[in-house]
Amino acid sequence: MDWIAPQRLRIDGDALVANWRALARMSGRAVCGAAVKANGYGLGAPEVASRLVAAGCRDLFVATWGEAQALGDVGPARVSVLHGVRDEDAPLIGLPGVRPVLNTVEQVRRWRDRGGGACDVMVDTGMNRLGLSVDDVASGALDGLEIDTLMSHLACADEDHPLNARQQAAFAGLAGTTAARRLSLANSAGIALGEPYAFDLTRPGLALYGGIPRAELADVIRPVVAIEAQVLQHRTVRPGETVGYNATWTATRDTEVAIINLGYADGYRRAFSDRGTARGPHGETLPVIGRVSMDLIALDVTLAPMLAPGDWVAIDYAPAAASAASGISQYELLTGLGGRFQRYYA
Ligand SMILES: *Cc1c(COP(=O)(O)O)cnc(C)c1O
Repeated sequence: MDWIAPQRLRIDGDALVANWRALARMSGRAVCGAAVKANGYGLGAPEVASRLVAAGCRDLFVATWGEAQALGDVGPARVSVLHGVRDEDAPLIGLPGVRPVLNTVEQVRRWRDRGGGACDVMVDTGMNRLGLSVDDVASGALDGLEIDTLMSHLACADEDHPLNARQQAAFAGLAGTTAARRLSLANSAGIALGEPYAFDLTRPGLALYGGIPRAELADVIRPVVAIEAQVLQHRTVRPGETVGYNATWTATRDTEVAIINLGYADGYRRAFSDRGTARGPHGETLPVIGRVSMDLIALDVTLAPMLAPGDWVAIDYAPAAASAASGISQYELLTGLGGRFQRYYA
């Protein structure tokens, strides 16, 4: 008999694909890729990638060569390694369909010294994170390189900020100045900024997985991941008694409490202490009471007192709402999902 973990992620594969299709539609004439770095934002990169490739996605983005290797066979898709190429990456260079995104003049030189071949290039247009400068490009640093995609990254796409238009204009100014086949600027939020930001290829990550970085995406994006965890113990707490570490929660009435197999070591952050909620079998709201422990939380299940050890509860974890409740970014909530979860598609 297969072992069943007491905490699991239910992943809605239809919603994942529907989100990618919606973002592809919003990308207009641009092709839509997918950022699957950080283990597919915590969901499991190989499974996410194979579903998106089956739906027609051909451009995948990871951070490191190790992540590219972990993807396994992605069929007709191509994988771009966002952090470029180090000397230490030599053992993995040549993985079929995988190419670096070169970020510095030094990385360009390293790639040329290795014999070159298809690559992408990141140009910094104002974020001051990764990328060659616009001046590097103008002074011929990329001459003769076999560039598939010239890209840049938006610093403030999830806000209405003047830097968005400045970066868009700086990037548009690079069109035709290199041998690149394609231009790419927009992440999830950048897609919502409209057609001038889409260029030839878009690179959503967060929104594929149910995150909503801008209001324009709220009615478009479906939730993808749900946390389910088992009840481990049920108890009745009397008025005046406390629950959990440091006794931060005190009962004011007889309270039915379920102790649940989930904690901050699973990525269910301590910020959900007294803030998080879960769903009972009939949709009842079950508040998290007291501190989130490493491996456990306590729920007030007075509204669903029949919950018994072995029963499953659904933890509210839609990224935007969970972010509002906890103050933790949607990105961190997803990418922090831990290794104890069994991940299954339903
Ligand atoms: C992570 C990343 C993306 C995806 O960004 P989201 O905000 O998750 O859509 C796109 N491009 C680059 C360069 C990235 O690092």
